[in-house]
Amino acid sequence: MSSSNPLSSIPIKVIGAPTRARFHWKRRVVQAMVILLAILIPASGLFRIDPEAGAFVVLDRQIWFADFFLMGGVWITAVSGLVMLYSTAGTVFCGWACPQNSLSEWANNLTRKLLGKRAELSLEGHAMRVAAAKNKLINWLLLGSAFLAASLLFGLIPLFYFYPPDLVWSFITFQDDERLARSLHWIYTVSVLILFLDIALIRHFWCRFACIYRVWQHSFKTRQTLHIAYDASRSAECAKCNYCVTACFIELDPRKTDVYDSCINCGECVDACNRLHAKEGASGLLRFELGERAQKRASQFRTAAISWFARASWVGVLAVLGVSMLSWGLYSYEPYHVAVYRAETTAQANAAQDYTISLANKLYRPVELHVNVEGLPEGSYRLSAEDVKMATAGRKSLTLSVMPDLPRGVHTFMVDVSAPNGWLGRFRVQHFSE
Ligand code: SF4
Ligand code: SF4
Repeated sequence: MSSSNPLSSIPIKVIGAPTRARFHWKRRVVQAMVILLAILIPASGLFRIDPEAGAFVVLDRQIWFADFFLMGGVWITAVSGLVMLYSTAGTVFCGWACPQNSLSEWANNLTRKLLGKRAELSLEGHAMRVAAAKNKLINWLLLGSAFLAASLLFGLIPLFYFYPPDLVWSFITFQDDERLARSLHWIYTVSVLILFLDIALIRHFWCRFACIYRVWQHSFKTRQTLHIAYDASRSAECAKCNYCVTACFIELDPRKTDVYDSCINCGECVDACNRLHAKEGASGLLRFELGERAQKRASQFRTAAISWFARASWVGVLAVLGVSMLSWGLYSYEPYHVAVYRAETTAQANAAQDYTISLANKLYRPVELHVNVEGLPEGSYRLSAEDVKMATAGRKSLTLSVMPDLPRGVHTFMVDVSAPNGWLGRFRVQHFSE
């Protein structure tokens, strides 16, 4: 039939095939943005930990056990989004976002640059082969200094999760700040040591043999999850070529990926094969694919869609629950708190009975709270102060003294606390006068 068709004899050349490392640079941009995000999340107050108060901070609000909905909503929303990502795109987080992988790749590249192409920490256990021409003290010193500088720099990131940005800045600029607690120096020292060990010696060994998070992501992978597909019909073009294998820093053969292997969908192998074939104006033999492995295209899409919707239904319910809890948590959030309890007093006849009014500011901004007592006759009580200023989140206490000359019996009164933004907190007290 083809011989009868004159069109079939015209040679076809595919043009516009990829000539660049398409995924490589996109991945580098995403990796840099994730590291920036790792700083911005705590620095913007979106999420951090207040070690002094022993509390989580979400959206610059101190989270107490009573704010369970807010915290629960944040976690459920984040987890459902991530589960959806794992089921659709597999362990793509490792290849495109994980700082451990980003640092390991950087360390591998620098090691190869300074000590030679074969100087790598082999996951298969082969000894590092340093090029004779590069085995110089200056190269080793440069490598060690770069690793130390990176550890000192990235060791600052955990500090943002425990301290406000202005305090971290005081630490970086060696300012004399009384808030610089010993714990901050400890956290920084430990972070730098761990990072240096990680960059110098551990790198992808962590990913391959120790990362629990990778195992968790793997548990959501299926045969339909995004994977590398190989065009086996053109396998003859692979004769004497293993360019994609050398491009894979996880040391896989990209032509034989399977559901439970370590592939992190980085796309380096796709770029490598595309680059190789770009010279002939053809596309490579490797590509990203969503859908059942080794099936025909039409059914691939259908099975992938069915599988995705099956998973999306329960994760979707989880996501709706998370967003609802988060919304309710934000709506019902109490920014201040008041509690009143009997103060320890020496038992003395005719002595005033003291109460402690404990006030808490849960927002990391200044506030002036006004305290008022209702239900007790004028002159039968004394407040240590009526207005309380707080510069940031924290607690302060007042003393309320109730005079002993009240008539014998139970007296119910309210301690009202108001804030300039209209918030009103009330605490009911039952006082027994003897
Ligand atoms: S780079 Fe492409 S052509 Fe070379 S072995 Fe890999 S899949 Fe085959
Ligand atoms: S097989 Fe390809 S996509 Fe998977 S880890 Fe290796 S280079 Fe990256």
